[in-house]
Amino acid sequence: MCSLGFALFALFASVAGAQPGMSGGVRIEPGQECPPGMTEVRPGTCQAPTLPPPSILDYRPRSTLVTTEHLVPKAKFPAIDYHGHPTTQLSSAEGLTQLADDLDRIGVRVIVAANNVRGEELRRQLATAQAHPRMRDRIRFLTGIDFTGVGAPGWAEREIAALEAAAAAGAVGIGEIGKGLGLTSRKADGTRLRIDDPALDPVWQAAARLRFPVFIHTADPQEFWRPIDNTNERWLELALFPSRRYPAELFPSFEQLMAERDAMLRRNRGTTFVVAHMGWHANDLPRLAKMMDEMPNILVEVGAVLYDIGRQPRAAHEFFVRYQDRILFGKDSFQPAEYPYYWRVFETRDDYFDYYRDYHATWKLYGIDLPDAVLQKVYFRNALRITPGIPPQGWPR
Ligand SMILES: [Zn+2]
Repeated sequence: MCSLGFALFALFASVAGAQPGMSGGVRIEPGQECPPGMTEVRPGTCQAPTLPPPSILDYRPRSTLVTTEHLVPKAKFPAIDYHGHPTTQLSSAEGLTQLADDLDRIGVRVIVAANNVRGEELRRQLATAQAHPRMRDRIRFLTGIDFTGVGAPGWAEREIAALEAAAAAGAVGIGEIGKGLGLTSRKADGTRLRIDDPALDPVWQAAARLRFPVFIHTADPQEFWRPIDNTNERWLELALFPSRRYPAELFPSFEQLMAERDAMLRRNRGTTFVVAHMGWHANDLPRLAKMMDEMPNILVEVGAVLYDIGRQPRAAHEFFVRYQDRILFGKDSFQPAEYPYYWRVFETRDDYFDYYRDYHATWKLYGIDLPDAVLQKVYFRNALRITPGIPPQGWPR
């Protein structure tokens, strides 16, 4: 190394608080991190690779682990997908036939369409389903709430009338209340509509009277609020989808949204809420357990958080057993090829297998090995108990 180069290296090392080591490495003090481009090869010693590293996009190590695989293409017990988003399938008999074929293949007996449909569109989708012999008893619809105009006179009366009409037409619940409530919805006066705005309470109470569960999605994974740097678990997703970033100057914080949601849930104890995506606390099951203990009126749904369930097989198993009466299966985005990953996590004790989207999770999954009685509750019994509008006949005893 020329003396200038050495001087620069020494300067860099001292700026970073690190010292050149014995064999081309750099020393760091306890609690310090290695400089960028280096990794800790021995306690306190950092070293740079001798080859240019692949990017996180291109690094696809082939696992050499040899272990027994139990693929589960079809659920062990008939399932209810409480977080269904069928789309074009709902507009024609051919689409519904395709949907029935897909559901048969993966073992979903009933899909709950959580698409917020109302009025004429709701009646049209119900009629199309009713006219389809294979889907008549296998699809149910949630209806939506229109949050425009909250705070203006008559808003709650209008929405309650719409809910009553939807119930009369055949809807079985409300949802999915989207993350727009809290993040983007505005009141009639232009201010942000808080999730716990008391003006919404009459509608939550009407849901209880109608025996409508309320399926609600609040916020997003907490990492979406954090700086997009090399410590962010969702770096790749945030880099791929800029609309998933929630900069503090434009949006309420994650904790603010959680506080509003929890205040609303606590205040409406007579209403049954199904909290989508395990409330975005599947990465913090102690927090979710505390919430479940405090709020007997909530259940949670597992859609799109499989990466958190499957990375903690022992803690997740314990949580599912403890709260077995209050967890519902749901998938979210309707991709038939992705359901078998859920069955495999819930039903097997397989080790270290791939998740279906590498931008959600850089890690592998493990089976949580649920007993049959718990599987049945998560797959269908809990949904049947809270949703009188789902046909109760024909399920395993
Ligand atoms: Zn959804």
